[in-house]
Amino acid sequence: MAEQETSGLQVLLSTLQSSSDKESILNILQVLTELLSVGTDRRIHYMISKGGSEALLQTLVDSARTSSPDYNILLPLLRLLVKVGQRDKKFGQKALELEALDVTLILARKNLSHNQNLIHCLWALQVFASRVTIAAMLGINGAMELLFKVITPYSRKRTRIIRAATEVLAVLLKSKSNSRRAVNRGYLNGLLRLHQDWQNHDTSNDFIQIRRSLLLCIKHITNIQSGKEVFLGAQGMEILFTTTQNYLGNQSMDAIISVVIQILRKCYPKCSLPLATASSYYSFSVPGSMNSGPPCTGSEDDFEEDGEEEEDTDSDSEETKEEDDDLETDLKKLTSKPVLSWTEEELKQYEAMCCELSHNFQELESKSGDELSSEEDLGTHKCTYFCHISTQTFSKRHFQERDQSTQGLETGDTNFQNPPPKQMKIMKSTGDITYEEGAPGKIGPYLSSNDQEEDSSRKEVPDTQASFKESPWGAEVCSCLNKNTFLSSSVRIDEISEPVSKFLERHPMNIPFHNPYTYIAKAEGTKSVPGFKVLAFPDVWGHHSPPFSQSMLERKCGIQRAKIFEDVQRFIQPDKVMGRVVFSLDEPWLLQSTDATECLKFFSGFESGNLRKAIQVREFEYDLLINADVNCIQHQQWFYFKVSSMKAAIPYRFNVINCEKVNSQFNYGMQPTMYSVKEALQGRPHWVRVGYDICYYKNHYRQNSAVAGAYGKCHYTLTFSVTFPHNEDVCYLAYHYPYTYTALMAHLDFLEKSVNHKKVYFQHQVLCQTLGGNPCPLVTITAMPESNSSDHLQQFRQRPYQVIVARVHPGESNASWVMKGTLEFLVSSDPIAGLLRESFIFKIIPMLNPDGVINGNHRCSLRGEDLNRQWLSPSAQHQPTIYHTKGLLHYLNNIGRTPVVFCDFHGHSQKKNVFFYGCSIKETLWQAGCMVDTSIVTEDVGYRTLPKILDKVAPAFAISSCSFLVEKSRASTARVVVWREIGVLRSYTMESSYCGCNQGPYKGLQLGTHELEEMGATFCLGLLLLQLKSLTCSSQFMAQASALLDAREDIMGHQLRRSSSGSSTDVELDDEPPCMEEIDYSTDCSSDQETDIHELDRQIQEMALTETVGDGEDKNGVDNRSLSSPEVYVSKHCTRKYRTSP
Ligand SMILES: [Zn+2]
Repeated sequence: MAEQETSGLQVLLSTLQSSSDKESILNILQVLTELLSVGTDRRIHYMISKGGSEALLQTLVDSARTSSPDYNILLPLLRLLVKVGQRDKKFGQKALELEALDVTLILARKNLSHNQNLIHCLWALQVFASRVTIAAMLGINGAMELLFKVITPYSRKRTRIIRAATEVLAVLLKSKSNSRRAVNRGYLNGLLRLHQDWQNHDTSNDFIQIRRSLLLCIKHITNIQSGKEVFLGAQGMEILFTTTQNYLGNQSMDAIISVVIQILRKCYPKCSLPLATASSYYSFSVPGSMNSGPPCTGSEDDFEEDGEEEEDTDSDSEETKEEDDDLETDLKKLTSKPVLSWTEEELKQYEAMCCELSHNFQELESKSGDELSSEEDLGTHKCTYFCHISTQTFSKRHFQERDQSTQGLETGDTNFQNPPPKQMKIMKSTGDITYEEGAPGKIGPYLSSNDQEEDSSRKEVPDTQASFKESPWGAEVCSCLNKNTFLSSSVRIDEISEPVSKFLERHPMNIPFHNPYTYIAKAEGTKSVPGFKVLAFPDVWGHHSPPFSQSMLERKCGIQRAKIFEDVQRFIQPDKVMGRVVFSLDEPWLLQSTDATECLKFFSGFESGNLRKAIQVREFEYDLLINADVNCIQHQQWFYFKVSSMKAAIPYRFNVINCEKVNSQFNYGMQPTMYSVKEALQGRPHWVRVGYDICYYKNHYRQNSAVAGAYGKCHYTLTFSVTFPHNEDVCYLAYHYPYTYTALMAHLDFLEKSVNHKKVYFQHQVLCQTLGGNPCPLVTITAMPESNSSDHLQQFRQRPYQVIVARVHPGESNASWVMKGTLEFLVSSDPIAGLLRESFIFKIIPMLNPDGVINGNHRCSLRGEDLNRQWLSPSAQHQPTIYHTKGLLHYLNNIGRTPVVFCDFHGHSQKKNVFFYGCSIKETLWQAGCMVDTSIVTEDVGYRTLPKILDKVAPAFAISSCSFLVEKSRASTARVVVWREIGVLRSYTMESSYCGCNQGPYKGLQLGTHELEEMGATFCLGLLLLQLKSLTCSSQFMAQASALLDAREDIMGHQLRRSSSGSSTDVELDDEPPCMEEIDYSTDCSSDQETDIHELDRQIQEMALTETVGDGEDKNGVDNRSLSSPEVYVSKHCTRKYRTSP
């Protein structure tokens, strides 16, 4: 702003304060009004900084305190005050100090019947009250009584005044002391009556603003407990429910409905979950003494706060950089390396886990390298199986690829097949395609119990059912190949009982890297806390990624409020709620009494299953409760259960009512997954994303106060509707694509048998036993040495290490699918994989928490601990998998073989895409605003190379979502500990979204297992490219790799796909785009922007306009007598401004 103007403004302000001459005051006001009516808010802020607020307030007090106040000055002055005051955070305080509050209240009282004057006073009061402390002060001075007098009883006269008064009242009631006063004076009943009157009479919706403000008043009063009680006693729930239910679908009524919903949710009486106890149904006695008290209290916990006792404070007075509190700011700490806690002796045990370093390969002949490499170049394997890295555009993917791969199998030119039992037939992949999706009335030949009935078109649906029932393999039976029934004590594949073999013979499947026989055999060795005896059908039968991608679900407007209204209806009309327990681990006896056919059947007594209770609430609606993690009272999020006895084409609503996370991707396009047994038997063995009308929100259940240390913890509902494809089907529903421990063991078995042992060094060892007695696998993959000549052996032993781990969090099954892709790629015949094997030794621990996975946990180990918070000082007894992984890393470090990259695969429930968390000292210090001179810190920026590479080659990866901050709260995670203690520069957590991508070629799609596996394979490619960029890369390697990569231009084509990647530091938790219906997953969004700063401006300007034009009347006609010439004069100026700049 120009210097002249500066001095001019200051002169104006000081003249305004000192002058007692009416004409000059009016002139100054006029000039100021003009000055501020153009340009941006910066002018107003500038004026505030020069004492503008004080000057105006002082003038107000002086003018109002004269024996006969001059409204020709007061009105323009008040308008100016409102305009400036809205932009001045300390305005209320200034007004209080200058006694402008009292003056304005007195003016308002004097003008109760004078509309024009009164409305100006009300606007000023509204601005003063925007700070709760000032609002409380106004309340003490009787402002609420005044306002209540103005708005009651219901009247259509003076609507503009009523609107202004209700708006002030709503602002005042944000103060809890005012709310208490309102309750004590019985205003709540009055407000409810007014609400009903306005709701009933305003049929053409002309006064939405008044109705909304009344509701806001009710909303604020019910923030306090006594307010809630009065509200409930006055049938407030019923009143709001009935007055609003007819508007639900009306988008123009959004402003009202959203407030009603907030009130209804908040006032819905809290109650504890319909569970006997919050602690897990299963307990496991762990070695050593457990900590007393609940072992796990996550930082994400969401506790209910009821601010009854709270004093009124202004929230922005304690502005803090809260997000930084969590960041490491101690440079010494960041750069220091803790003392090694393993002795040399202890480290020696890991020698056995690196036997590749001592093996002398006597079995190999000593021959020169040339002979072998020519064989390699024959390229007989056209990477048919290993098509994880897209070689086509993603939209066209699969069909041809899969087709080729199955044909490849059929012609037998691959050795990856676990020799199937003789009777296994290979199903042609065309079988997949001939069946139309969910075509009603048709069944596939595989469904029938009679082998001769091949003509499916003649069959009707009822016959399908019959055939299911007649068959010894009823859907119910085959859905859970019962180990007791079919497997004797010592199970071997060739001993599988006759019915199973016959069934598998009749329904041959060809799912890559999967064999039901191996699965069943491996399941025998899996030890669970509940002692699971049953296998889930999808796990045994296998999952094949469907030949299509699935878009994210578009969220329809109004879904959330419709669902919440249905919930509220349960409270208002309890007689319409069935409340029938149809499944319960705790109360199994209840199940016998509900043998009625008119309900779904639930079951989850299989690996990774975790349903605890199911309650039928309406004919087609069920409340579901998930079991807490073993030895825990929390972490309900993952779910996996079986449902049967459904009717086709009926929407069933499921509510998982004891979720814990504060928000979920279920609000932003994510769907749960389903596997239909009938679909699988018809040749579509797919887990697919299903469900609609999905939303996730805080419900009225609170954790029982009896549970120590977790008083009032909140719960969330995930609601979704499913229309099942078949009658009487057996379906499995899960939070995400399941991947069991048994699946991993079967997969490793398969891989070991399938690799070409002449070329691939593949070793499956046991890292350690878990607490639950399950072996935790450690896999080593590299290339066999070309011969046992000392040169070749030396090259073999000098290969750098890469360490990859996954699934420390059992609920993150996506991590296992990524790992599956990594493993399959690394052992594949793909030439790039060959090069990777020749370059590195891969140490892979694919499942760091087998017990958690087996027992259906979401987060923890059997000790109820988050294993990814135990890396600082793990114990061999309590966290064996972490202890030994860390020990192995220390060993490698100790022998001078620190891994190039350490990566820990995870799943992320709040964000989209696949991305990294890494570690950078500088970025951490910068982010924390640390005073340390970062220029003296030298840091290898190599940690950024791999994510940059992946951003270019991996379709799902987004560097813009990456973060390289070292947070204090993450100090005991694998990533930070391996970086700081082992000294691995490139130490990462790789997070894969449960949902999908909002960038790149997969934008708008949900991630399926194909995309996740592709990510795992592409991660390996990234490691190769990283090596190419490193200084140690030999020219020979460079040439070899370049040739290979050139041959795959399309892969590298991704490099051109993205122009520039954004900065990686601006990571936000909620990076979701706004949606039509504001997503309100929490009931207490008190920060709501209830009054738009421009709204008052608009009203003032409108007032000025109408004054000039001369129809300053309310809709129902009130006086505009008060117009007087000076005001019109000012208004004209304003008017002119409008017309020139509309
Ligand atoms: Zn995780």
